[in-house]
Amino acid sequence: MRILVSGAGIAGLSAAIDLGTAGHEVTVVERANHLRVNGSPIDIRGAALDVAAEMGALERIRDSRVDMSERLRFVDASGTPLAEPPAEEVNDSAGDLEIAREDLTRLLYETLPTSVSLVFEESVSELEQDPDGVTVRFSSGSRECYDLVVGADGLHSKTRSLSFGPERDFLRHLGFYVALAELPGARENDPINPMYNFPGHLAGIARYRDHALAVFQFRAPWIEYDYHDLEAQREILGKHFGQHRQWRVPELLEAACADPELYFDSVSLIDMPSWHRGRVVLIGDAAHCASPLSGRGTSLALTGAWFLTEALREHPADLERALIEYEDRQRPHVSRAQATAEPGGDLMLPATQEEIDARNARLAGQPVGSRVSVASRAT
Ligand SMILES: Cc1cc2nc3c(=O)[nH]c(=O)nc-3n(C[C@H](O)[C@H](O)[C@H](O)COP(=O)(O)OP(=O)(O)OC[C@H]3O[C@@H](n4cnc5c(N)ncnc54)[C@H](O)[C@@H]3O)c2cc1C
Repeated sequence: MRILVSGAGIAGLSAAIDLGTAGHEVTVVERANHLRVNGSPIDIRGAALDVAAEMGALERIRDSRVDMSERLRFVDASGTPLAEPPAEEVNDSAGDLEIAREDLTRLLYETLPTSVSLVFEESVSELEQDPDGVTVRFSSGSRECYDLVVGADGLHSKTRSLSFGPERDFLRHLGFYVALAELPGARENDPINPMYNFPGHLAGIARYRDHALAVFQFRAPWIEYDYHDLEAQREILGKHFGQHRQWRVPELLEAACADPELYFDSVSLIDMPSWHRGRVVLIGDAAHCASPLSGRGTSLALTGAWFLTEALREHPADLERALIEYEDRQRPHVSRAQATAEPGGDLMLPATQEEIDARNARLAGQPVGSRVSVASRAT
């Protein structure tokens, strides 16, 4: 089949590898002028480990493993560790792998079959389908026909809005926002990754290898802003963290304002009754974003691309049946991942100081009200 993949994130690159290897003629278009490799390390869990093995990527993923999450500690304003997230929140099982987002993206990019074309600074503007194919008009003005269009263009998917309806029909905001920025010059030999809370807010440092990121999360109802407007994103962060001078919040905010690749987004779920319509199908966050709080978005991106390819292989003459089968296989993984997202917010950024203290006491095994350091466990 002649297949267009919109988006070169983890889902889009995985689909291009799987579909290209299966013999399809694949073109990937990416709106940015480069691979978007920034972000904090991400987890590969459960069935996604088997998929990574099938893709021939598991050994390289293992070799690039990092331990950013295992070193997370909740700290007070002086930086003293108070508690650590429960191990089961960090990993589902001992086999789970954590890898830097940039390493996984590059690894997938290097695994792309030579038959796949990847076009940067290009995106879909219009989609028109009939029973025989999909005619795509691109932002560059060119026009092409495909047998299948795969929307892998993330939480704010253009493919989804063109083929299924407006974002507001499918997006459920969980009441949080997240931001990540490069933090040059952070101390490299600190054994912990400190996470500091004040009511409804989290600011932290995520270190892995020689890399450090400033991490922000905060509670807020839905905010209207232009997703592509970096200044607007910095302003929102400034509004929520700018008045808070405790711990290292001002230093982290400065890093966020200086980073041209700042990642900022709402923590939201995408919930759709179906991920395909005719010859257009969605995978990854575009179809079923489970939010960073689930820790499973990347695993879902890998399994979805794989199940789609498998279903197309099994039903080469019946596209509708193949797409239904893809959904049937992927849906249980999505339901499980999305169910884990909401409690994650209560753990990471309690709404009040009382709740922050209660969480720390609970995790440190102390009665609520006594603030006892667990510094010895953090080293
Ligand atoms: C820059 C960035 C940083 C991230 N950091 C984290 C993180 O730290 N922690 C975490 O849990 N999750 C993070 N995520 C989300 C995480 O990558 C996904 O949940 C998961 O990997 C599933 O990926 P995806 O490929 O479906 O979507 P995404 O990773 O969002 O990839 C979508 C891709 O499509 C491209 N795109 C968007 N619109 C268009 C369009 N109209 N036409 C063509 N291309 C388009 C985007 O530039 C991007 O490359 C991040 C995503 C991005 C883009």
